Amino acid sequence: MPYYGWDEDHLSVVRGSIQRFCKENLSPEYVRWMDENCDFPPDDLWKKLADYGLFDRSLSSSPYEYLIVQEEIATASVAVMLAVGASIGFGQGFIAFLGSPEQQKEFLPKLAQGEVKMCMALTEPGGGTDILGSLRTTAVADGDDYILNGQKIFITAAHVADYLVVIAITDPKAEDKTKSWSVFLVDAKTEGVTINKISKLGIHACACTEIFLDEVRVPKENMLGPENRAYGFLLGRSDSPKKSKSGSASKGKSALNALLNVERVGTAMLSLGIAKAAYKEALQYAQEREAFGKQIGQFQIIQNYLVEMAIQIENARNMIYGTVSRALAGQPSVMQAQMSKIVAARASEYCAIQGMEILGGYGYTMEYDMQRHFRDYKQMVFAPITDEMAINVIARMMGLPKSY
Ligand SMILES: Cc1cc2nc3c(=O)[nH]c(=O)nc-3n(C[C@H](O)[C@H](O)[C@H](O)COP(=O)(O)OP(=O)(O)OC[C@H]3O[C@@H](n4cnc5c(N)ncnc54)[C@H](O)[C@@H]3O)c2cc1C
Repeated sequence: MPYYGWDEDHLSVVRGSIQRFCKENLSPEYVRWMDENCDFPPDDLWKKLADYGLFDRSLSSSPYEYLIVQEEIATASVAVMLAVGASIGFGQGFIAFLGSPEQQKEFLPKLAQGEVKMCMALTEPGGGTDILGSLRTTAVADGDDYILNGQKIFITAAHVADYLVVIAITDPKAEDKTKSWSVFLVDAKTEGVTINKISKLGIHACACTEIFLDEVRVPKENMLGPENRAYGFLLGRSDSPKKSKSGSASKGKSALNALLNVERVGTAMLSLGIAKAAYKEALQYAQEREAFGKQIGQFQIIQNYLVEMAIQIENARNMIYGTVSRALAGQPSVMQAQMSKIVAARASEYCAIQGMEILGGYGYTMEYDMQRHFRDYKQMVFAPITDEMAINVIARMMGLPKSY
């Protein structure tokens, strides 16, 4: 599976290593147990992931290696990979991009060791898609501090986070709302912070939460990045047809690096994991289950389902890996990141639904894992961005008029 000249020999060693790790630490029985009993991966597993080096891979080693590792972990347990992305990846992205040298010195090593967890608190009850229109949380300067007030919803892993990365309005009078947000690193234990878990359908072993911020006092030095410029860092869509001053090479890199663009690719990888897990189980079942004296895998329609699953998986994988390759080569990649998110979410949907079909009645029971994939895939369709909104973004990048 050569991707754009990657060192396949080296990557196959990486893949072998992470597959062994998953076999030892993320067996199907253990993953099922986590789904039924945990709202976050247990501490001993977290320590093993840290010892494996998973948490510093995203910053220190080759991005290709990290993709392979993500793919294998997400296939073994999407909840674990989501937990890593939400509580380590987000934190690393914000601190590495926006943190001061002191903040980087303090937090990056702790994140890499798994000693600190963070989460990203952007979405609010007024709506996640029209986030610019719905964000209400405010941060008002008061002496050496800011005072934060507001509410966040659906925030993954805040219940275990040591620090919340909170996006708040610092310039309520700004005519251009894209120049009104700032990012704050909030100690989760600060007075006035209340975090409640929200029950959800799938990916149980990585819960989401609502957060109330009531007169929360945050020191000024905990602002991440420049005041009023958070929107550009989060959603900077610099892949416009216009030429950037810095030239195309840095344009592509900075575009993929827009923090939420990285998240699109990460989410696509989670979807790919769900799709692969559902496909593997359906294929095995089709080779074991018999009807009319034959393997059900001998029936043409079952073969069609399985082949279509394999095609969609390969398609999604190519798109994800291709997007990252483009970004690393300095090519525009924002549109491809959105497309990857959609294609991979659709692959997870197809594989989970057709996987249920192939398992027949057993797929619907809690005895088999297919029901988990069926519950898990749905989160991938609308988080972190809905497929509808990702399509809007692509349409605009194609030069079509804004539809909303
Ligand atoms: C389990 C889970 C985990 C999450 N984790 C996080 C997290 O860690 N941090 C965080 O900040 N947020 C998180 N989110 C929030 C997530 O990003 C939002 O749910 C998502 O952006 C959609 O927002 P919404 O749910 O308010 O839907 P809405 O914005 O209310 O949209 C409802 C429907 O209307 C459609 N719609 C809206 N506008 C348009 C339009 N212009 N064109 C076409 N269709 C449109 C949407 O596509 C959707 O189908 C999470 C959500 C969930 C459910």
